[in-house]
Amino acid sequence: MKMLEEKLKIDKISKGTVIDHIDAGYALTILNLTGLEESKNLMTIGVNVSSKKHNSKDIIKIEGVFLNETQMQQISILSPNASISLIENYKVIEKKKVKLPSTIRKLILCVNTTCISNSIKEPISTEFMVLEEKPLKIQCIYCERIYKLEEIVFTSKEKKEKKVIQRIQL
Ligand SMILES: [Zn+2]
Repeated sequence: MKMLEEKLKIDKISKGTVIDHIDAGYALTILNLTGLEESKNLMTIGVNVSSKKHNSKDIIKIEGVFLNETQMQQISILSPNASISLIENYKVIEKKKVKLPSTIRKLILCVNTTCISNSIKEPISTEFMVLEEKPLKIQCIYCERIYKLEEIVFTSKEKKEKKVIQRIQL
C-alpha cells in the first residue's frame, strides 16, 4: 500500500484533474456515473490507498480533462469529502472541495412509480432535499420518500439508470 501511495505521488499529470479523498471503494462508481470511464485519456486510479486523514481513500488522476458542474455534483453525492485539483504544467493551479448542495435537482430518479416526478403526462424534474450528508439521506420533495446512498438511482444522459455500487471492502 505504501508503494502505491508513493507511486501515485510520483506519477504526476501535466494537465488535467486529480480527484482525491474519494471515499474508499467509490472511484469506479464515480468513473461510471460521470462518464469519465469512456474517456480515452490517460487515467490513474488508486483504490483503497492508505491515507493519513482517513483510513483509506480512492484517487483518480485524469490527463487533459476538466470536470463540469454536473460531474462535480455527482461526485459530491457519492463522496462529499472529495477534493478536486486542477493541474497545469504539473502544478496545482486550483484546488476545490466538492460541495453537496442542499437540494439535488435532475440528477437522481425517484423510483416511487406513483410519484408525480414519474408522471407520463406531466413529467417534472426530480428534486431531493438533503437531510443528512454522511451517511447520505435524501428526500423526494414531491412524494417525501427517503433514500439512503445505496438506494439511489441516478439519471444519465443515455437515459440508462445507474445504481450506486460500492466495491466490497475486504
Ligand atoms: Zn418522489
